[in-house]
Amino acid sequence: MNDKGSTNAEPGALRSHRCGRIGQEDLGREVRLAGWAGKIRHMGGLAFIDLRDRWGIVQVVCEQGQPLAAAAEVKLEAVVGVTGTVRRRPDDMVNTDRATGAFEVVAARLEILNGCRPLPFQVDQAESASEELRLKHRYLHLRHPTMLHNLEVRHRAAQAARRFLSGRDFLEVETPLLIKTTPEGARDYVVPSRIHHGQFYALPQSPQLYKQILMASGVDRYFQLARCLRDEDLRKDRQPEHTQIDLEMSFVREDEVFAVVEEMVATIFAEAAGIRLQTPFPRISYDEAMNNYGSDKPDLRFGHPIRDLDDLVAGCGFGLFADAPAAGASVRCLCAPGLAEWSRKQVDDLELLAKQRGAAGLARAKVTAAGLDTGIAKFLSADFQRALIDRTGAQPGDLLLFVAAPWRTAVESLGAVRLEIAARAGWIPPGTWALTWVRNFPLFERDEQTGGWTACHHMFTQPRPVDLDGLEADPGKARAQLYDLVCNGVELGSGSIRIHQRELQERVFRIVGMQEQEWLQKFGFFLDALGYGAPPHGGIALGLDRLVMLLTGSPSLREVIAFPKTTLAASPLDGSPGPISEAQLRELSLAIVPLPEQAP
Ligand code: ASP
Repeated sequence: MNDKGSTNAEPGALRSHRCGRIGQEDLGREVRLAGWAGKIRHMGGLAFIDLRDRWGIVQVVCEQGQPLAAAAEVKLEAVVGVTGTVRRRPDDMVNTDRATGAFEVVAARLEILNGCRPLPFQVDQAESASEELRLKHRYLHLRHPTMLHNLEVRHRAAQAARRFLSGRDFLEVETPLLIKTTPEGARDYVVPSRIHHGQFYALPQSPQLYKQILMASGVDRYFQLARCLRDEDLRKDRQPEHTQIDLEMSFVREDEVFAVVEEMVATIFAEAAGIRLQTPFPRISYDEAMNNYGSDKPDLRFGHPIRDLDDLVAGCGFGLFADAPAAGASVRCLCAPGLAEWSRKQVDDLELLAKQRGAAGLARAKVTAAGLDTGIAKFLSADFQRALIDRTGAQPGDLLLFVAAPWRTAVESLGAVRLEIAARAGWIPPGTWALTWVRNFPLFERDEQTGGWTACHHMFTQPRPVDLDGLEADPGKARAQLYDLVCNGVELGSGSIRIHQRELQERVFRIVGMQEQEWLQKFGFFLDALGYGAPPHGGIALGLDRLVMLLTGSPSLREVIAFPKTTLAASPLDGSPGPISEAQLRELSLAIVPLPEQAP
C-alpha cells in the first residue's frame, strides 16, 4: 500500500485503500475498504456508516440490496469490509471536519468481518468513561484518533532520535534487564532466580552502570531507547515503567553533551511535531533557578522572577522582615503586574499554596500611584517602599507578595505562587517552548531521615574540579558537573559528567555513608571496570514519555504509553500484578507470608 492509501491489491484482497485517505483521485473508482463502524445511522431507507481506520474516517452509504440488509446487522465497533464506488457529496453536505468530508463510498457489498459486543464505552466518548474502564479495555481507547495520533508522534520522536544519533556515530546497544542493581533513588523491582536458590535479579532503574561500562569498553558513543523500572511510591504523573532516550559519550565535557542533545531535541521537535526550536538553549545555574523562580525546573515561558530583599530590610519598619536575616531567614518578593485588582479571596488562595510549601503566610501590598497601600503597607518605611519599588520595578496596579522564611521555603513557596498566578492570570503565551539547561547543582544534599549525605542525582556524578579537595570537609558545598534539561517547567532529562576514576568513586561512596564491604558487594564489578582504564565520559537520559506528553499536549503520561499502569501500579487490562501458582512458588523456593496486620 502506498502513502496515498491505495494499492494494486489482487482481487480478493481485504482492502485496496485506506479509509482516511479517500480523495479526489479516487472519484468514480471502485475501492475495497476495511475498518471499524464508528457511527451508524439508519435514515429513510438508507444506512450511513462512518468507517474508521488508523488513517481516518470515510462515510459509507448503503442504498439498497445486500449492503442495506447487511448494514442493519452492523453494531458499533464491528469490523466491516466494504466494496463500493467513491462519489462526491453534494456541496451543502461536505463535512469540513474530516479530510474525506467531500466524498462518500456507495457500497455495492458489505461484509461483517467480526462483530462487536455491547461496548463498555463508545470510542468517541472515551473521556467520560472511568480511567479503570478505559485501561481495562485499552484496545478500545487506543482506537480513538487522539490516542493513535499520540502513538504516531511517539514513533516519530523515537525514529528521529535513532536516526539523529546513528548519524552521529552513536551505537545502539541493548543492556540487560536482569541485573544486580542500578540505584536511581527508587526501590528495585526484583525477580527471583530459579537456578540460583534464594538469589534475585533486579530490574534496571536505568542502564546507568552498563552505559558507563560500555564507555570502559571503548564503545565511545552509546544510545538506547531504554526501559527503566522503578518501584516508586506512585505520584500522579509517574509510571513504574518508563522509556528513556539514554546516551553516553566518551572524552567529552558538558559543552559537547549539550551541543549533541540540543541538536537531537531540535530534530525530534521538528520531525515529531513540526516545532522549530532555537538552539543553543539558554543555561542557568541551579542557584539562579532557585533564587529567581523557586524551582530547579523553572518555567521560563514567562518572566516575573522572585526578588531578594535581604539587603534592604534592615530598619524597614516591619519587624518580621527586619529581623529575618539575623534569624537565618530570608525575605523574598514577587511582583504580580496588574493583580492589585485581585480579590482578597483570590490572594488568600495563593497564601494557602505558600503555606502548603511551609511558609507561615503570604504578606501583601498593592502598588498605587501614591505608593504602597493595604496589607503590610502601613508598617513599611517610605525609604523601604522606594527601594522596594526600585528593586521590583513595580507599577501602579501591581500586587507585591512577600514571604519571610528559611531560604528554601521562601523561594519555593513564592515559586509555587508564581506558577499558580501564571496559570490563572494567563501569563503563559500559548504555543511557546522554553528549553533551558539548569547546571551546577549541589553534589550532595542532606538525607532528612538519616541526617547523612545523599547524592543529589546519583552517586556516579563528577564533582567540579575546584571542589575535589574539600569534598569530605564540607560535602554540602561541593557542586556537581550535573545538568538537567527543562522544557516549559518540566524536567525532560538529567545527566552528568561521570566519575571515571575508582579512587574518587570510592570517596563518594564513603561520603554517602557506605562502608567498603558494602560498596564492594554492590558495585565491585563496576569499580573494577573503572579501575581497568575507564575514559572520561558523560551523558544524559531524556524521558521519552514526558517528551511525547509535551509534544502532544497530553494531560497525563498514560495518554502516550500504549499500555500504562494505574496510579497503584496495576494493569486493569491483564490483571497484573497477580498471584503465581503453588508450583511456581515451590520451584522458586518462595513462600508468601501474610501481611503483619492480617496475621492471626
Ligand atoms: N541514569 C540517569 C537517570 O536515569 C540519567 C543519566 O545520568 O544519564 O536519571
